[in-house]
Amino acid sequence: MSYDHCEYCKGQVREQKVRVDHRWKGSLTVVEKVPVGVCDHCGERYYDASVLHRLDLIAKGKVGSVRHIKVPVADYSQAVAA
Ligand SMILES: [Zn+2]
Repeated sequence: MSYDHCEYCKGQVREQKVRVDHRWKGSLTVVEKVPVGVCDHCGERYYDASVLHRLDLIAKGKVGSVRHIKVPVADYSQAVAA
């Protein structure tokens, strides 16, 4: 997979294996080692259509293996008064 220059800052976009927090219908799936184009300069991410499609399949539990982790969820407004 090759990428053009970043459309925001014209930096060089290179493929990296990154962790993606993929949300689908209110559920969150953390997918590791996803091949994504990342801008060297501003960090903007570029996803290939086939990668996005596969992320959807993973989130639906149709492909790939899954392990579960516990994630704390906080309400920021509850912490402001403290
Ligand atoms: Zn950029």
